[in-house]
Amino acid sequence: MTSSFLALAEVQGASQIDIFNPFDGSLVGSVPCLGAAQVPGLLKRARQGVRESAALPRCRRAGILEGAAQLVERDAVAFARLIVSEAGKTLRQAEKEVKRCINTLKLSAEEARRNAGEVVPFDAYEGSESRQGWFTREPLGLIVAITPYNDPLNLVAHKLGPAIAGGNAVILKPSELAPLSAIKLLQCLTAAGLPESVVTLATGGAELGKALVAAREVRMISFTGGFITGEHIARGAGLKKLAMDLGGNAPVLVLEDCDLSATVELCVSGAFWAAGQNCIGTQRILIHESIYESFRERFVELTRSLTLGDPARCETDIGPMINEQAACRTEGLVCEALAEGARLLCGHTRKDACYAPTVLEQVDHTSRLWREEVFAPVVLLESYDDLERAVALANASEYSLHAGIFTRDLSRALKLARRIEAGGVMINDSSDYRFDAMPFGGYKYGSLGREGVRFAYEDMTQPKVVCINQLD
Ligand code: NAD
Repeated sequence: MTSSFLALAEVQGASQIDIFNPFDGSLVGSVPCLGAAQVPGLLKRARQGVRESAALPRCRRAGILEGAAQLVERDAVAFARLIVSEAGKTLRQAEKEVKRCINTLKLSAEEARRNAGEVVPFDAYEGSESRQGWFTREPLGLIVAITPYNDPLNLVAHKLGPAIAGGNAVILKPSELAPLSAIKLLQCLTAAGLPESVVTLATGGAELGKALVAAREVRMISFTGGFITGEHIARGAGLKKLAMDLGGNAPVLVLEDCDLSATVELCVSGAFWAAGQNCIGTQRILIHESIYESFRERFVELTRSLTLGDPARCETDIGPMINEQAACRTEGLVCEALAEGARLLCGHTRKDACYAPTVLEQVDHTSRLWREEVFAPVVLLESYDDLERAVALANASEYSLHAGIFTRDLSRALKLARRIEAGGVMINDSSDYRFDAMPFGGYKYGSLGREGVRFAYEDMTQPKVVCINQLD
C-alpha cells in the first residue's frame, strides 16, 4: 500500500513490517517499520500539523469529518474486507465496525460545531459584577495516538475524529499487527480535505511507541491497549496528559427471573464476538443456581453450533485470533485452569490461529483465567445461591470496563447496577454493548479518562477564559 503518509519513511529507508492474514497466513500488505531514529522527522512534520490544524475554522473541521464519513460509507465493502484480512474479524463483524466508524466520524463533526465553550457567570457571586466573559475550547496541540489490533478502524476513528474536531495535530501509531485499515481511513480524511500534516502516520512497534511517548512537545498520549503497555507508557510519558483505555474481565449476572433464551443468546455473542478479542467481551457469567443447569445446557449447545473458520465466508461465526501465538497463549491459560481443577464443557481445540469457542465451569478463583483478562474465545460459568456473593465476585477484579445484568425485575436491576463497579452496566444485555456517543472507559486500576466522542473531545481540548472588565 503506498500513500503520501509513508513518504517520510520511504525516503529514510526504513525496514518493512509485513501484515499477514491471521486465517491463511497470506501477505495482506506491508508498511515501513519506523523506530526511534525517525521520531525527530515525524515531530517536525507534526509541528506544521499543529499550526495548520489550529488554523482550520470549525466549519472546515466538521466538513472534513463529514466528507470522510461519506467516503468511508462509499467504500464500506472494501473497508470491511480489509478488516477481515488484516484482523481476522468475520465479515459481519467487520461490516458492523465500518458502520460504527462512520458514526464516530459524524459524531466528531457534530462536536466540532457544537462544543465551542460556555459563558462564565461572573456575576454569580459578589465581587465580579463588572466582569463578563466566556471560555472557549482550544486545541491541546500535538497528540500521540496509539491503538491496538482488535478494532483496527473504529478505535482509530475514536482518536482521530475528536482530535481533529478539537483542532489538534496527531501522530498516529496504529498496531503493527493491523495498521492497514487506519491508513485507508487516513486516505479518506485527506481526500475529504484534511491538510496532510495534521495526521502523521507512524508505523512501527514498541520501540517507536516508546520514543513518541517520551517526546517533550507531545501534549497528550491517547492510548488503547493492554495493561503492561499502559504501565510502560505512564512511566515514560513524563508531564503530559494521559488517556488510557485498557482491558477488562467482564462479569455478567444472570438472575433467576431472566428471559433465559434471550440471555443465553446475548451471552454467547458477548463471549465470542471477534473471537473474544474484545475489551468488553463477557468473561465470567454468574448464574443463579435455580437455572444454572438449563442455562449451561443451552449455552453449550449454542456455542457448539457456532461455525469457526474462514472469516471471509458469510456463514462463519468465529474467525481466527490475531495470530497463532495468541491462540497458543490462550490454550496454555486454559490448560493451567484445567490442571487447577476447572471442568471443560466444550471447545479447547486449536488449528493454527483458530481456537474453538471454549466454555469452562468450576474455575478456581485464584487461577489466572479467572483473575486476568483472557482476551480470547473463552468464557467461565459459575453458579451462585446468594446474590450478595455474586456481586462481590463480579466486583472482585482489579480493573473493570463493563458488566451485564439479566433480570425481568427492573427495580432490582437498578439497585444492582449502583453496586457494580464498572464504567458501564448493561441491563438485559451482555457486557458487550457500546454506543459510540456514550462515555466509555473503566473503573479501578489503570483507567484514565473516557472515550466516546464528546468525552474524548473534551479531554483533547483545553478551556481558555476571556474575561472583560467593564471599567465605566
Ligand atoms: P498492546 O498493548 O500489546 O499494543 C497496543 C499498542 O501499543 C500497539 O500499537 C503497540 O505497538 C503499542 N506499544 C507496545 N509497546 C509499547 C510501548 N512500550 N510504548 C508505546 N507503545 C507501545 O495491545 P494489543 O495486544 O494490540 O490489544 C489488546 C489489548 O487492548 C487488550 O488488553 C484489550 O483489552 C485492550 N483494548 C482496550 C480497549 C478499550 O477501549 N478499553 C479497546 C480495545 C482493546
